[in-house]
Amino acid sequence: MTQDRHVLTVLRPPASLGVIGGGQLGRMFVQAAQRLGYRAGVLGAIPEGPGAQVAHWSVVGPPDHLHSLREFAGRADAVTVEFENVSAPALRWLERRMPVRPGWKTVWVSQDRLREKAFLAGHGLPLAPWRPVRTPEDLAGAVGSLGLPLILKTAASGYDGKGQVRVDEAGRVEAAWNQLGRVACVAEGWVTFASEVSVVVARGADGKAVTFPVALNRHERHILDATVMPAPVGPIVSQEAREMALSIAQALGTVGVLTVEFFLTAEGTLLVNELAPRPHNSGHLTIEAAVSSQFEQQVRALCGLPLGDPGLTSPAAMVNLLGDLWQKGDPDWSRMWSLDPGAKLHLYGKQTAAPGRKMGHLTVLDPDPDRALNRALAARGALLRR
Ligand code: AMP
Repeated sequence: MTQDRHVLTVLRPPASLGVIGGGQLGRMFVQAAQRLGYRAGVLGAIPEGPGAQVAHWSVVGPPDHLHSLREFAGRADAVTVEFENVSAPALRWLERRMPVRPGWKTVWVSQDRLREKAFLAGHGLPLAPWRPVRTPEDLAGAVGSLGLPLILKTAASGYDGKGQVRVDEAGRVEAAWNQLGRVACVAEGWVTFASEVSVVVARGADGKAVTFPVALNRHERHILDATVMPAPVGPIVSQEAREMALSIAQALGTVGVLTVEFFLTAEGTLLVNELAPRPHNSGHLTIEAAVSSQFEQQVRALCGLPLGDPGLTSPAAMVNLLGDLWQKGDPDWSRMWSLDPGAKLHLYGKQTAAPGRKMGHLTVLDPDPDRALNRALAARGALLRR
């Protein structure tokens, strides 16, 4: 699908790699790039964001303004993204000048739920029943065909449960759409899933692709709370999930890292929930647990180098550290490490800790994945000040 005009370009250290977005994903990309000897910079909204703090250079500005793009393009030899809300014209502008991976089409499809659903359905992938909602008639039709409960999600810019409302009564559906600003939405039938899983896939410019093992994800308040890898889903479901992720990356022509989130029903059926054209929170544990992390894969794919080994050196669990943990002051790091010296701490350098804000994460490696999760949860519990 995507024509990568830089397919033969191989960038060697110390080339300068740019990431659009200066949050924690940009930060971990920069750290992986630097470990491999590259120079790395970010284009971010604020000067001292998580990415800019560790980068060799940074450009402050919106990703869609020509003046910030010009400055960014002047410093980067190749570009990747840490989020999907970058406009297609901005990415195409950059693509005319240097490798941009993933390319604009992958980002464009995954930044809009309506486009994403249509793309996935068009490629025969299994989805929860869904309807596009652009008009009051669409909304009424969606309730009629999907039944209740259903979930209404804005087509653009939703994340961590923002931009979505569950509707339980037909009389509440208008109010739900009003709450979302009556913008274009996807209405989705409610799925009573047994679990949520995800697969991170990395694909090179030569079309060769690898997947990490399936991750099992637990959410709290619609925000990822904990991940265990490998997910205890059995070899058949695991292979199906990995094959679907590979086929999606191939159909999109993605070069770089792509994450596919799934619902797994009680009968063992996988439904694709959504795509992210980048490394994912559920893949953070690959920094310690995999031979090559999801961020190292992002660097290698961007630079036209052979991909790394996605195999695990150990099962692992990751728990997120949200701003809520800071409510009574700094978390008790000493207590955590007294309890579990093996807990690996990642803090993103964010200056203010709002409830629900991702401030960092903890990873624990353990030969037993259940024990890894229990240890990670206990380590996080020890951080809470009473
Ligand atoms: P999303 O932003 O689409 O990943 O949705 C965030 C979370 O809301 C998911 O991880 C699920 O826990 C829940 N969710 C989303 N869509 C559905 C659905 N159709 N049925 C049940 N739960 C859902």
